[in-house]
Amino acid sequence: MPVTPSANIGVVGLAVMGSNLARNLASREGNTVAVFNRSPVRTHTLTTEHPEAGFVASETYDDFVASLAKPRTAIIMVQAGKGTDAVISELVARFEPGDIIVDGGNANFHDTIRRESEISPTGVHFVGTGISGGEEGALNGPSIMPGGSVESYQTLGPILASIAAVAEGEPCVTHVGTDGAGHFVKMVHNGIEYADMQLIAEAYDLIRQGTGKSPAEIADIFAEWNTGELESYLIEITAEVLRQTDAATGQPLVDVILDEAGAKGTGAWTVQNALELGVPTSGIAEAVFARSLSSKRAQREAAVDLPGPSTEWKVADADAAAFIEDVRRALYASKIIAYSQGFDEIVAGAEQFGWDVKKGDIAKIWRAGCIIRARFLNRIADAYADDSALVALVTAPYFRDAVAGAQESWRRVVAIAAQAGIPTPAFSSSLAYYDGLRAPRLPAALIQGQRDFFGAHTYKRVDKPGVFHTLWSGDHSEIETTPSSH
Ligand code: NAP
Repeated sequence: MPVTPSANIGVVGLAVMGSNLARNLASREGNTVAVFNRSPVRTHTLTTEHPEAGFVASETYDDFVASLAKPRTAIIMVQAGKGTDAVISELVARFEPGDIIVDGGNANFHDTIRRESEISPTGVHFVGTGISGGEEGALNGPSIMPGGSVESYQTLGPILASIAAVAEGEPCVTHVGTDGAGHFVKMVHNGIEYADMQLIAEAYDLIRQGTGKSPAEIADIFAEWNTGELESYLIEITAEVLRQTDAATGQPLVDVILDEAGAKGTGAWTVQNALELGVPTSGIAEAVFARSLSSKRAQREAAVDLPGPSTEWKVADADAAAFIEDVRRALYASKIIAYSQGFDEIVAGAEQFGWDVKKGDIAKIWRAGCIIRARFLNRIADAYADDSALVALVTAPYFRDAVAGAQESWRRVVAIAAQAGIPTPAFSSSLAYYDGLRAPRLPAALIQGQRDFFGAHTYKRVDKPGVFHTLWSGDHSEIETTPSSH
C-alpha cells in the first residue's frame, strides 16, 4: 500500500537524542513526525512507549521519505562522522530540490562545509545544526544553532523555534550563519563548557583542600553561589553532584568516582581551530589538557611521590569565609576570561569562513536550554548590543568592573594555589592571559630580537615605520629591509 506523505518533519536516528527530539517535535501543535532508525528495534520501542506522539514510523528509507510532505524536512540525529555520511547519502538519493536535510549531531564544522558543498548542486538544502542541552534539553527545549542557507531557515526556523528552549520569552534559536557556522558555534560552546567545568572543579578542590570542608558542605556553598552572579546550570548541578552519597559505601559519590575525566573531542576541536586561527583560548586549552592529564594513569602513579611544597597549607577557621569569597571571585573573573576567549574564536572563525555571526544573538540563544546557560549571558548580550564592534568582551564596562572587583581575590587565590601545590591551570592561565592583555609592553619585543638574530626574521620599531634587521653576524648595525616571508 502506498505511504501517505502525512508528516511535516522527520527524524532519522532514534537513540537518546533523536528519540527525545522527535517527542519534543510531536508535542508541538501542528507537527506530525515521521521517524526512522537503521535498526527497527529502536523505532518499535519509541512508538510503543509513546503512542501519544502519533509518530509515522517506517522501516525503510523509501517509506520514510514517502511519509514526508513536500518540501521534505528531515533531522538526522546519528553518531557523528561515518553514520551521518551514510544517512545523508540515503536521503539525498531520494530527496528532491527544495527538500531540507538537517544534521543535528555533533559534526565537525569542516565536515559540514564539505557536505553542504557536495549536496548543494542537487538542489537539496543541507543545514548543519548545533543542538545543546543533552537528552533533557532535546526533550524539553534545547538551544539550537543552525547554519545553512538563509532560504532553508525560512522553512526550518519556525519548526526549530517551536521546540527550542525559551529565555525571557525568546526562543533559543537563531540562524547563526551559512554552511558550517552552526556547528562551529556549537563547537566553541562545548569548548567554553570544558573551561567552565574545569574552573568549577578547581574552585571545589581549593575549598576542599584549603578548609577541609566535606563535599556536602561545599555543595551548600555552590548552592549559595547559584543565587548570585555565578547562577548557572553547571553551578547548580555541581551542588547536586557534591551532595550525592554513594549507596554502596556511604561515601560522598565524588570520592568514589575515578578521577579520570573523559572527553568526546569537541573541546580538542575548539583548541585545534583556535591554534589555526591564532586565537589565544588558553582557558579552554588548559581545561582540555587537564582532562588529558587526569587520564594519564601510569604517569600520575610514577609521579605521585615527586616533591611538593615543604609546608602543609590549611586555611585557619577564622579565615575560611574570606578565602571562600576569594575563590568565588576568582571563579567569576576566570569565567569571564573563558567566555571572552570563546567569543574571540567565534569572531575569528566568522572572519575566516565568511559568516555574518551576530555575537549578541549567540549569547541570547545560550541563555536557556544549553549546558552553559547562565545568568551572565544576559550581560554578554547587553555588552554586544551596546557596542557591536567590541574588540574583547572583557573590555566592556560591566566585565571590566567585574574583573576589577575580583582581581585582588583572583591574584591571592592563584598565588596560594602555587604555594600550596594545588593545580589550578584554568584559574592561573586566565589570570596570565588577563595580565598579558592589559600589559602596555610585552616581552614579545625580545622574542622578535631573538628571531631576527637566528633567522633574520626582521622586526618593526616603536619610533618609525619600516621593517628592520640587525647585522648580528656582522658589525651589529641596523639595516632597513623588506618583511621576511617566514
Ligand atoms: P549516538 O550514540 O551518538 O548514535 C547512535 C545512533 O546513530 C543510533 O540511532 C544508530 O543507529 C545511529 N547510527 C550509527 N551509525 C549509523 C549508520 N551508519 N547509519 C544509520 N544510523 C547510524 O546517539 P545520541 O547520543 O542520541 O546522539 C546523536 C547525535 O547527537 C550525535 O551526533 C551526538 O554527538 C549528538 N549530540 C548528543 C548529545 C548528548 O547529550 N548525547 C548532545 C548533543 C548532541 P542504530 O540504532 O541502528 O545503531
